[in-house]
Amino acid sequence: MSVETQKETLGFQTEVKQLLHLMIHSLYSNKEIFLRELISNASDAVDKLRFEALAKPELLEGGAELKIRVTFDKDAKTVTLEDNGIGMSREETIAHLGTIAKSGTADFLKNLSGDQKKDSSLIGQFGVGFYSAFIVADQVEVFTRRAGLSAGEGVHWSSKGEGDFEIANVEKAERGTRIVLHLKSGEEEFADGWRLRNVIKKYSDHIGLPIELPKEFHGEEKDKPAEPEWEVVNRASALWTRPRTEVTDEQYQEFYKHVSHDYDNPLSWSHNKVEGKLEYTSLLYVPGRAPFDLYQREAPRGLKLYVQRVFIMDQADEFLPLYLRFIKGVVDSNDLSLNVSREILQKDPVIDSMKSALTKRVLDMLEKLAKNEPEQYKAFWKNFGQVLKEGPAEDFANKEKIAGLLRFASTAEGEGEQVVSLGDYISRLKDGQDKVYFLTGESYAQVKNSPHLEVFRKKGIEVLLLTDRIDEWLMSYLTEFDGKTFVDVARGDLDLGSLDSEEDKKAQEEVAKSKEGLVERLKSALGEQVAEVRVSHRLTDSPAILAIGEQDLGLQMRQILEASGQKVPDSKPIFEFNPNHPLIEKLDAEPDEDRFGDLSHILFDQAALAAGDSLKDPAAYVQRLNKLLVELSA
Ligand code: ADP
Ligand code: MG
Repeated sequence: MSVETQKETLGFQTEVKQLLHLMIHSLYSNKEIFLRELISNASDAVDKLRFEALAKPELLEGGAELKIRVTFDKDAKTVTLEDNGIGMSREETIAHLGTIAKSGTADFLKNLSGDQKKDSSLIGQFGVGFYSAFIVADQVEVFTRRAGLSAGEGVHWSSKGEGDFEIANVEKAERGTRIVLHLKSGEEEFADGWRLRNVIKKYSDHIGLPIELPKEFHGEEKDKPAEPEWEVVNRASALWTRPRTEVTDEQYQEFYKHVSHDYDNPLSWSHNKVEGKLEYTSLLYVPGRAPFDLYQREAPRGLKLYVQRVFIMDQADEFLPLYLRFIKGVVDSNDLSLNVSREILQKDPVIDSMKSALTKRVLDMLEKLAKNEPEQYKAFWKNFGQVLKEGPAEDFANKEKIAGLLRFASTAEGEGEQVVSLGDYISRLKDGQDKVYFLTGESYAQVKNSPHLEVFRKKGIEVLLLTDRIDEWLMSYLTEFDGKTFVDVARGDLDLGSLDSEEDKKAQEEVAKSKEGLVERLKSALGEQVAEVRVSHRLTDSPAILAIGEQDLGLQMRQILEASGQKVPDSKPIFEFNPNHPLIEKLDAEPDEDRFGDLSHILFDQAALAAGDSLKDPAAYVQRLNKLLVELSA
């Protein structure tokens, strides 16, 4: 062992410590994944070297044959992985293996419940990485040297996975990283050629560079060569370059885990080779669940970009629109130059046409999933539906296609589950119905009993119930689907078109005429609070509702804007009353103008409450109501 200098002991960052603890205690049922993680890192390190060597070929130091070697020692109970990739400098080692927790670690840890079982499944979302070595090892040593640094600038990192790690400078002749795992007692099974080979085949067959193991030697001890013969145990060709028919589902799934750092299987994937004006291969995956940082603006997203099989960058986010940011995978282009940079990507017209083709691919893949595996699609919708709802506003060209993928709660389904597609809705249209009706609100519980739905219930017409925060905004972009316009049932003067018969309409006009006096009285009683007062023909059970003006902001948008401190233009609702309701009949017959005023205000406030709005003057409401109650019981 060579001389070590500048030795120091450093503490792991708090988050790293917590993560380590959690990992060691929750992943014991699937220990072998440590090998996949370390090989995945070695492969990334080789990719980085290849990329940097494009500009600086001297980094290869004459050794261009890139590979990973895995060895073991039964007696010493060690497993060793060695790669000749980019390696790490002392600073990088300290940062990557101890100080800098992966971006989002803190947020991730915040989500933990303390319930061991729940948390174990959460860790899968996070991607476990280097620290998974401690699942099987009670001591891990890393010997590494960054390509381009001198042999004297090697680094020795060592830790027992508890609170701290040691780091020292050490001589290292070859660039790259060697990781020595000192197996815990009970984990000796991994110091075995057969076991290692199986695990590598299972998880790392897709890795695009050779993974070598020493060949078993069966002769006499005295004939054993000093240097073992090496044997490549994986297929060693980048998975996406192989024809679809030669790749098994398991291999696609393992490759997904490598590119996504996810721990679970994807829901679906699409692998395509494009030839013609543009040449590229893409392999795109829909993850099985949402990462915890899906809504963080700075969260990494995008595809792994390769140019002619050479890795160029992670998280190239120019290839898909923002509303598909959950898609993982690789794209390998033959048209881009090897020294392409992010700046160039942002301007290159080649990227635009790739982007629109890849977007179509993803939408097609989702359509297929929805059609062929509705249960899986449900899971997809739960995780990513909210993000997909950003689509119609962002991607005008694919609006109709995206709209077809949306799922809604509806009056035709119980429980508020979002399972109804616009296609379903349209297939159930009533005779004479040429609109898609919807109602937005704060929660399912609130909208499902909304008075706005009364006439629809009576006529048996389905209404979509939209209660996500984003919905009102979404609907300002979705104006029609399949030639049918969307109508917000809480907005404007509801016109049911030919769903109302001629007689209905005549009757409505007559009622409206006969109530003109009441309308005028109400107008003067409610005064500035309302934009208009009119007779309603959408109510059966409730005395009154408030409708939103055709051009006004809805309640949801208003609340969002107010919460973000923006000034919201004042808009007044339209007061609609149900001429057949006993309370309205009483009101109409009320000779005392004071009581008439009180009662009108109560009706107005109740209508606001039913719409999920808050009262401007709740105390006045309570006072009026109490006054009335006292009079009643007198
Ligand atoms: P991730 O792979 O998701 O970045 P890991 O925990 O697996 O997270 O690895 C942390 C970091 O350590 C890597 O991003 C890389 O910078 C560094 N690293 C790990 N293994 C190697 C290696 N074999 N060669 C070079 N760098 C490595
Ligand atoms: Mg990793």
